[in-house]
Amino acid sequence: MTVVRDVPKQLFIGGRWLDAESGRTLPVDNPATGEELCQVADASPADGRRAVEAAVAAQAAWAATAPRVRSEILRRAYDIIIARTEDLALLMTLEMGKPLAEARAEVAYAAEFFRWFSEEAVRIDGGMMTAPDGKNRLLVTRQPVGPCLLITPWNFPLAMGTRKIGPAIAAGCTIVLKPAPQTPLASLALAEILTEAGLPAGVLNIVTTTDAAGVVEPLLRGERSEMGVPPAGGWGKIRKLSFTGSTQVGRILLAQCADTVIRTSMELGGNAPLIVFDDADLDVAIEGTMVAKMRNMGESCCAANRIFVHTSVAEEFASRLAARMAALKVGPGTEPGTDVGPLIDIAGRSKAHDLVRDAVKRGATVLTGGELPEGPGCFYPPTVLTGIAPESAIIDTEIFGPVAAIRTFETEDEAVAAANDTEFGLATYLFTQNLDRALRVSERLESGMIGLNTGLVSNPAAPFGGVKQSGLGREGGRVGIDEFLEYKYIAVPVG
Ligand code: NAD
Repeated sequence: MTVVRDVPKQLFIGGRWLDAESGRTLPVDNPATGEELCQVADASPADGRRAVEAAVAAQAAWAATAPRVRSEILRRAYDIIIARTEDLALLMTLEMGKPLAEARAEVAYAAEFFRWFSEEAVRIDGGMMTAPDGKNRLLVTRQPVGPCLLITPWNFPLAMGTRKIGPAIAAGCTIVLKPAPQTPLASLALAEILTEAGLPAGVLNIVTTTDAAGVVEPLLRGERSEMGVPPAGGWGKIRKLSFTGSTQVGRILLAQCADTVIRTSMELGGNAPLIVFDDADLDVAIEGTMVAKMRNMGESCCAANRIFVHTSVAEEFASRLAARMAALKVGPGTEPGTDVGPLIDIAGRSKAHDLVRDAVKRGATVLTGGELPEGPGCFYPPTVLTGIAPESAIIDTEIFGPVAAIRTFETEDEAVAAANDTEFGLATYLFTQNLDRALRVSERLESGMIGLNTGLVSNPAAPFGGVKQSGLGREGGRVGIDEFLEYKYIAVPVG
């Protein structure tokens, strides 16, 4: 495949493509076939330090670069990404599995973060006020937080990168990006694009590795002596961690950041409820559920994980949803007409299947799917379960697969209590035609984002993020850039 062949396979440090110091490489596999696509450099902790040194060295000059210049680099990168949609989409389909149509949609979504933040780069403002005593003037300005470590998951290989890189570049921060080892190619392709768009050497550095814990921990704990003396300008080590991934890993990283009091943004796991009230338009609810459940094969932090349907419409909803799910075409994402690609790996598929088997053992009914297919690849059939017993593991576990688990409720209070009964709080979906109810329930839900009569909440212009153990901070929207800026206040006495 030329798209795979053409992507650089080395580490990107200080504007140069370099082998890992150890010479080691890691395999990138195609989940549709189980076959290896290529090998990329497998960084050691020493490579991680080299990348941080490059980011630290570039920080002062980058922070001093005119906002308009930063803005135009992002805007050019946006244009290049859009022009290369087909190649980038195919690359993601090959390394991650999603159908080409979804990969193309991700390219557009990912690129939009660059366009959005190119527009935000020139709107970083401050303020000035008279202090309450009338004497002092208070000047408030904002500055880049400094070199950032960005860690991304495999499920949206391009968009999870641009959602962090866009605001970091706009704010004037330098970057070390550590993509997921399953899907490094989209990030490596992005480095080439940003270079072509004029990003100076050292502003973006990329470290691919199978030893995430070994590479990342020393960078966060801040072994400054090992990293050498900071250059003139006084930039230190990593000043900010922006992480997207599981809550489990997020907790480990937060603890590591506590050591050196590093600022963090955490986009963590979800366990999204989807509520269908008796006054919902069922056509809209089923369409929305298909999107909320099946986008990205269910491998999304926002995927509907727990579906609650009012008893009066539950049977019709379940049978119509099962019919839609059964009609989906499962196959390699590169094949025309494929609706559902493979899951990321065999472990991901086993997790989904184990949750289905556990639910069935406790009394659930399978309306469609539920059987492991024969043959190569990590495919799993679209599955609909009803009659889920409360003690089933599927209720509290992020499924990350094409499995819809339906439960019923009688009252609004019961639905809200069930939806909130989780340590997560990322996305929730509501289907109702009653505006009073929509607003009342939305206000009571412990959730960072709510899809009202829609199964899609992601939008680069909106603040994406969760409450409770789904995370800290927001990405995108007007506030996305704030995560990469520090306030500085200057007191000015006036005589
Ligand atoms: P993961 O937590 O296993 O890995 C995420 C990233 O962290 C990868 O790059 C991985 O290599 C790295 N990592 C793993 N252990 C590490 C460690 N000890 N130190 C430093 N880095 C480490 O998650 P995943 O399986 O890649 O992605 C799926 C998870 O991500 C799901 O829980 C999903 O909900 C979540 N996610 C959240 C969002 C969001 O915006 N909230 C978006 C996408 C995915």
